[in-house]
Amino acid sequence: MAMMPPTAGLPQTAGRSWLASANHPQTDFPLANLPYGIFRHAGRSRIGVAIGDRILDLRACAEHGLLCGVGCEALEGCGGQCLNALMACGPQAWSALRRRVASLLDEDAAGEIKQRVDPLLISMNEAEMQLPAVIGDYTDFYASIHHATRVGKRFRPDNPLLPNYKYVPIGYHGRASSIVVSGTEIRRPCGQTKIQDSDPAFGSTRMLDYELEVGIFIGPGNTLGRALPIAEAEQHVFGLCLVNDWSARDIQSWEYQPLGPFLAKNFATTISPWIVPLEALAPHRVPATARPPGDPAPLPYLSAPSTDCAAIDLTLEVYLESNQMREAGAAPVLLSRGNLRDLYWTIDQLVTHHSSNGCNLRPGDLLATGTISGAEPGSEGCLLEMQSGAEAVRLPTGETRRFLKDGDTVIFRGYAQKDGLPRIGFGECTGTIVCGALS
Ligand code: MN
Repeated sequence: MAMMPPTAGLPQTAGRSWLASANHPQTDFPLANLPYGIFRHAGRSRIGVAIGDRILDLRACAEHGLLCGVGCEALEGCGGQCLNALMACGPQAWSALRRRVASLLDEDAAGEIKQRVDPLLISMNEAEMQLPAVIGDYTDFYASIHHATRVGKRFRPDNPLLPNYKYVPIGYHGRASSIVVSGTEIRRPCGQTKIQDSDPAFGSTRMLDYELEVGIFIGPGNTLGRALPIAEAEQHVFGLCLVNDWSARDIQSWEYQPLGPFLAKNFATTISPWIVPLEALAPHRVPATARPPGDPAPLPYLSAPSTDCAAIDLTLEVYLESNQMREAGAAPVLLSRGNLRDLYWTIDQLVTHHSSNGCNLRPGDLLATGTISGAEPGSEGCLLEMQSGAEAVRLPTGETRRFLKDGDTVIFRGYAQKDGLPRIGFGECTGTIVCGALS
């Protein structure tokens, strides 16, 4: 009997679209992607689906009777100004909607459908992207063992990993109020720091950093008191985005003991505006990274029946553009390239662990993976990890960076790519550092 591919049975939308820009080999948004976001156009906020260089207005599709076959709740969800109601509908409804949207944009769609859909496509240039959901709660994990090890080495060279790391997915509750959409300026925060033997002082951070992460948007979630079994965890994941967990390292190192991150992290977190459904990433699933010999097996509640496609092969890149580079017309420079598959803990383990004590996850909650770093130099997901050598990061203008300066723009990109399949992109997650606090 022939082996079935792990994604057999899932709706695949790898075909071509009648919209030319969706078939461009470098587009982030081919027919196989169809991520959801909230866009503002002509004074109104609506749910849209990215396709090529356009946004398909889902509310208008519903109003024009183009979403037949989609259940009532999902149909109602499509009319919202945030994605929470659609997130609550669950994977069957998401699949039905995704199939229907794909059929509207497929090159095989009937001429009459194309004529009705075409006026509902808005140019991305004319729309402003907003936060995709009302985010009730935000949790940040620490799922990259390479990140945890490099950071740990700075404090404990002989014993970088704490004894709990390989047993417990480490995380903390972040702050949802300061999550902003890509493109929002990031004001350099003030805070309390203590430099070596001097007295503590209050002022602007001098060690501003980024953290390259992936965000997990929760779907239906669980009732308070009821844990999610690991086999069901992914049914509660609506989709993924890119996250920049901006961090002030000097504030962090003074405040973090004994309770962990606080003001060093909660001044701003940037997310990319498009949420890529797990279904779009199905062809890019890969086995979870094998634990090295000698590592403990995950405890039973964190052991999935199969880990054959527990990870996702998603390339993640960080670019930097300084003021001087912008003035010189230099392109943003690549600082690092990593991959989501390198995490020690997988997405289903993070979701399962979070609910394992009965903590309720709700539609629109955001979990972030923690800084994603690889083992090799060049795959560090934050500047802090690049400090181990004597060399600072060198930019094409001759400038150097240990941490971010005012005017620096940090750009994250993510994409899944495989021979014979269209490339699935995440769009950009960007932010520019601006000086000083608001008075
Ligand atoms: Mn983080």
